[in-house]
Amino acid sequence: MSEMLKRSKGKIVIVGAGFVGASTAFAIASSGIASELILVDVNMEKAYGEAMDLNHGLAFLSPCNIDAGDYPDVKDADIIIIAAGSGRKPGETRLDLAKKNANIIKAIIPNIMQYYNGGVLLVISNPVDVLTYIIQKMTGLPASKVLGSGTVLDSARFRYLMGQHCKVDIRNIHGYVIGEHGDSEVLVWSRVNLAGEKIDEYCNACEKKCGGIERDKIAKGVREAGAEIIKRKGATYYGVALSVTRICEAILKNQRSILTVGSVVDGPYGIKDTALSLPSIVGINGIEKIFELNLLPEEEEDLRKSAAKIRESIDSVLEDNMVDVK
Ligand code: NAD
Repeated sequence: MSEMLKRSKGKIVIVGAGFVGASTAFAIASSGIASELILVDVNMEKAYGEAMDLNHGLAFLSPCNIDAGDYPDVKDADIIIIAAGSGRKPGETRLDLAKKNANIIKAIIPNIMQYYNGGVLLVISNPVDVLTYIIQKMTGLPASKVLGSGTVLDSARFRYLMGQHCKVDIRNIHGYVIGEHGDSEVLVWSRVNLAGEKIDEYCNACEKKCGGIERDKIAKGVREAGAEIIKRKGATYYGVALSVTRICEAILKNQRSILTVGSVVDGPYGIKDTALSLPSIVGINGIEKIFELNLLPEEEEDLRKSAAKIRESIDSVLEDNMVDVK
């Protein structure tokens, strides 16, 4: 069988059945990509309730075995999604959240590894870059097998805002956000294209002539999207659920899609021993290859700063000696 035709069984386990985990389960079930979907949560009633609710939609969906479960279900899973942990509360710093969620991860990972026999770990919990790093180090799995949802959502927000601004179908806009899933993320303007046309050439021909000011507005919109949604409805979950479903589709169907997932990197742009997002080929084995885009010097500089910021957070969490990383 050719590499491209390799398919998985389609079993996904989601640890953490809160807003994000349950929405992801809904998006995955609706997409029809999985044959088995298991929800695990420290609050077993919640996981059970979510599974019941999802099962009542199966009359309208592709067949899928949906159930609440426990860590033994990790055995034979193609993807184990980690969505446990809370979001940032008012007054809580990112570092407070990192330490709190690192403790939750510390409790979960040994349970997963007790039954793990392959498959891709896909981290959503925040701060996703820090936790992706900690999980890869704790498990000792190859970096290609421990993915963060990273900036897949941020890239989608970027394309959405560009589509709205240019009045062009989002699917015809290619653009990547790389680096941290957070404030220091880098919008790679130099590589944005519409139908193959570089954004600068597109802008030159466009009658709007909006220039740099609109770019700043779009960048701000992407960076502050999460905080804006949280201010209005308390949490974000639909966008990330669909981003994660897209990553799962690429894995289960071995699509070799290029997505800005996060992973522990050792070398691109001279960046070592930190987790961050770069355009990566995603297939059945996780990350097949990381792309080093040709960046402008200032974009590369911003990426290095973003990597340094993530590394600083990782060091602060590790300093507390809360997690045993190899
Ligand atoms: P939530 O509070 O609604 O759900 C968290 C769930 O985790 C709860 O059901 C809780 O019972 C469960 N949980 C806690 N400790 C556990 C443990 N030890 N074992 C198993 N389950 C446990 O939170 P949410 O809104 O679903 O957010 C979940 C995480 O996703 C947060 O860290 C949030 O910041 C993050 N998030 C990430 C992105 C992204 O783009 N990466 C986007 C939105 C939210």
